[in-house]
Amino acid sequence: MLKVAKFGGSSVAGAEQFRKVKSIIEADPARRVVVVSAAGKRSADDHKLTDLLYLCHAHLSYGVSCDDILQTIEGRFAEIRTELGLRFDAEGEMKKLAAGLSRDTSVDELVSRGEYYTARLMAEYLGYRFVDAADCVFFGYDGQIDRDRTDRAIAEALAAHGRILIPGFYGRLPTGKIKVMSRGGSDITGALAAAATDADVYENWTDVSGILMADPRIVPDPRPIAKVTYAELRELAFMGASVMHEDSIQPVKDKGIALNIRNTNRPDDPGTLIVGEADDRDESERFITGIAGRRNFTIITVQKRDMNANATLCQALEIMDRYHAPVEHITLGLDSFALVSGSAAMGDALYDVLADIRKTCRPDNVRVQDEIALVAAVGRKMSSRPGISGRLFKALGDAGVNIRTIAQGADELAITVGVENKDFETAIRVLYDGFAG
Ligand code: ASP
Repeated sequence: MLKVAKFGGSSVAGAEQFRKVKSIIEADPARRVVVVSAAGKRSADDHKLTDLLYLCHAHLSYGVSCDDILQTIEGRFAEIRTELGLRFDAEGEMKKLAAGLSRDTSVDELVSRGEYYTARLMAEYLGYRFVDAADCVFFGYDGQIDRDRTDRAIAEALAAHGRILIPGFYGRLPTGKIKVMSRGGSDITGALAAAATDADVYENWTDVSGILMADPRIVPDPRPIAKVTYAELRELAFMGASVMHEDSIQPVKDKGIALNIRNTNRPDDPGTLIVGEADDRDESERFITGIAGRRNFTIITVQKRDMNANATLCQALEIMDRYHAPVEHITLGLDSFALVSGSAAMGDALYDVLADIRKTCRPDNVRVQDEIALVAAVGRKMSSRPGISGRLFKALGDAGVNIRTIAQGADELAITVGVENKDFETAIRVLYDGFAG
C-alpha cells in the first residue's frame, strides 16, 4: 500500500501545523511520499510565504530593498526550526539567497523558494529524504510537464530512498531554469507524484473536511461529500462549485487513482473520496451528491411552427458561435428551442445575435429572458431512480420558485434548472434541505 500525502500551505504554516503533519504521517506507514506547499497563513492577518516572495520580487524589479521581507521570511523558518529543535540553517540559507538577488533574478526561481525551504524543514522533521522538485519534476520546451521524464525520476527517487519529500509548485525547464506552476500548483505536484508511483491513494490534506455539498455562504454548515466520482466533480466544478482544478487532478484521474481530500486539523474526519467508478451498494435516500449553481444567464427562445429542427437549431448555433457566445444548455420542443448562454460572455453581442437569428432562422417569435440562474443537482445515483426530477421540481414549486428551463445531461449525472436570479439562493437551499441534508 502506498499513499502520496500532499499538505497545503495552511497545513504547514507554522510549528504547530508541522506537529500535526508528523502525527498524520506517523499514523500510517503507507504515507511514504509527501509533497508540501510553502508555509501559508497562520491566522487571517498573516501572509503566505509565496505572496511575500512575489512582493520581494516586485521590490527588486523596482530597485527597492526587500531586506525587511526577507527578514520576515527568515523569521518564519527560524521559528519553525527552533520550536521543533531542528538543525536547518535558516539564517545561512537566507543570507545565501539574499546575496544572489538582483534586478535580473527570475521571479519563478525566487518564489519557488517558499516550497523549497518549507520542504527542507519538513524533510528533516519527518526524517524523509528531501528530493528537490528541480530534480524530479520536468517541463518540456513547450512549458508543459514532461510526464515520462517526471514519472521516471519520481519513481526512481522513491525506489532509492523509500520515503521521500518533494516541494510542490515548481520544476525545471530543459534550459535548467526553474519554472513555477499556476497558483496552488502543489496539488499538481502531488498528483504527478501519485501517478508516477502508482499510489493507491492521493491524499490532499487541507484545512477543510472535504468538498462541501453546497456553498456554505448559502447553506449553513453543509455536509461534506463522502464520495464523488471524477465525472460528478466535473459537473460540480462546471456549475461553479469551488473544487480542485481539473488540470491538477488529471494525472491521478487518468490512472484511476482515488483522491482523498482530508483536513489536517481534524485528521479523524474521513474527508471526501474522489473515485473513478463508485460501486454504490448503499441504498440510502440521499441521491444527490452535491448542488452548485451560477447566476447571470440569458435564455434565447426561438419559436417556429413546423420548423426543421436540425436546420434551424444548427443555424442558431452557428450564429452563437460566430459571436463567441458559449451555449451552456439547449432545450428542444416541437416548435421551439431555447439556448442558454452566460450573459457576460454574450455581452452586447446579444443584439447582433438576435438580429441574425431573425434574419437567418426566420422564426415566428424570439424571446429573451435574462437574470437567469442555473442550479444543478448532481448525483450519479439519480439515473437509477424513477421520479427524481418530479420530486425536485415539486419541491421548488412548493417553495414558490419558478422554473424557467430544465436540462438533464445525456449521462443523467445532473439535473439543471434555470430559475430567476432572485430565486437562486432559495433554490439551492430547497434542494439541499429536501434531498441532500
Ligand atoms: N505556494 C503556492 C501558492 O501559494 C503553491 C501552492 O500553495 O500550492 O500558490
